[in-house]
Amino acid sequence: MSELQALDKKYVAGTYARFPVEIVKGEGSMVYDAEGKAYIDLGSGIGVTAFGIADKAWQAAVIEQLSKVQHTSNLYYTEPCARLAEALCAKTGLKKVFFGNSGAEANECAIKVARKYAAEKKGPEYNVIVTLKNSFHGRTLTTLAATGQEHYHELFQPLTPGFVHLEPGNLKEFEEILANYKVAGILIECIQGEGGVHVVDGDFIRGVAALCQKEDIVLMFDEVQTGNGRTGKFYAYMHHGVTPDVVTTAKGLGGGLPIGACLLGEKVQNVLGFGDHGSTYGGNPIASAGACNVISRIDEKLMAEVAEKGAYLKKTFSGAKGVRSVSGMGLMIGIETEKPAAEVVKACMAKGVLCLTAKNKVRLLPALNIPVEQLKKAAEIILSVIAE
Ligand SMILES: *Cc1c(COP(=O)(O)O)cnc(C)c1O
Repeated sequence: MSELQALDKKYVAGTYARFPVEIVKGEGSMVYDAEGKAYIDLGSGIGVTAFGIADKAWQAAVIEQLSKVQHTSNLYYTEPCARLAEALCAKTGLKKVFFGNSGAEANECAIKVARKYAAEKKGPEYNVIVTLKNSFHGRTLTTLAATGQEHYHELFQPLTPGFVHLEPGNLKEFEEILANYKVAGILIECIQGEGGVHVVDGDFIRGVAALCQKEDIVLMFDEVQTGNGRTGKFYAYMHHGVTPDVVTTAKGLGGGLPIGACLLGEKVQNVLGFGDHGSTYGGNPIASAGACNVISRIDEKLMAEVAEKGAYLKKTFSGAKGVRSVSGMGLMIGIETEKPAAEVVKACMAKGVLCLTAKNKVRLLPALNIPVEQLKKAAEIILSVIAE
C-alpha cells in the first residue's frame, strides 16, 4: 500500500472499499494511475463524467465561470443557474427547476413537493410515497426510506415514515396500494441502476402513469443515473411516452461537478414557495456552467451514437462465453456473468479496463462520447476475462 493509500485509510471515514489504485489524471475515456498505468474507463465516475475526464469544452465553460464568480448566494441572480433551468425545461417540457448538489437532495426535494401538493390538494394524511422494491434513491434518512432494499435500512432506524415499496411490474399491486393507503406520489427509476441494471417494464410504467393521472398522484422519475443522455434519450422516461410531474437528476448532469436538479411539471410547478426549500450551494455558478455545457451537447446525433454503442455492447456480450444475460439501454449496460462480478471487475482492472458492479452484474457506464475504438478494445478485454 502506498503512503497516500495508508493516509486515506487512516483519516477518511471507512465507507468505501477502495481498489488499491490512485487515479491522478485522465483524458476523455482514458485515466492514469500514480504508477503511470493506463485504463480505459467504462465507469465514468459512476455515470458522472458524461464527456469523460478533462473534456476541453466542458473545462473551458467551467474555467470561464471560475474566473468570474465561483459562488454567491441564492439571494442574488446568477446567469448559469437561470440558463441551465431554461435549458432543462426546453429539453423536457417541464416548467421549473430546483437545484441542489446531489441525487439524494434532488429526491428529497421531489418527496417534499409530492407531500406538499397532496397536503394542499387532498389533506395532510395523503403523505405516502410509493417506490419500487430493489430501487435506490440515496443515502439520506428519507431517501434511504425510499430505497426499496432492506439491507440499506438495517442499523439506521427509525427512517422517515410514509414509504411503501411496490414490486416492479405489478400494476395490480399499485392499484391495491392506492386503495389501502393515502398516496401522495410514486417515484420510479426506469432502469434500476444500483439494483442491478434492471429495466422496468414499459407497459407497467405507462399503467402507473395512467393511474397517477386518474387519481391525481404525483408521478416522479428518478433519473439520477438514467438521465442526461445515458440511455439514448435525454431522460429514460422518454422511451415510454409518459408525462411526469417531477423528474430528479444529478450524476451526469454536472459532467463531474456536484449538482442535482428537481424538475417540476405543470401540475406542481408552483408548489414550492418562499422558504419551503433551499440549499446554500444550489445552482452554484460553476457547477451550473459545467452542466449548461453538458446539456447543450446532448443532441439527436449524440443520442444516436449512444444507442449504437449500446447495441454494439449488447450484441457483443449476449451469448458470449461466461455470460448469463445482458440488460440495460444505451450506455447503461449490466452483464450477468458466471464468475462473480467483483472478480471480473478486479481482473479487468489488472488488464487496464475500469468497470463497475451492480448487485450480481458487471455494470458499464462509459462516457457518452467514448471513442468506438476504445470501447471495442475494452469490450474485448472484458470478454476475455469473462471467458477465462
Ligand atoms: C446515485 C443515485 C442516487 C443518489 O445520488 P447521490 O448523488 O449519491 O446522492 C439516487 N438515485 C439513483 C437512481 C442513483 O443512481
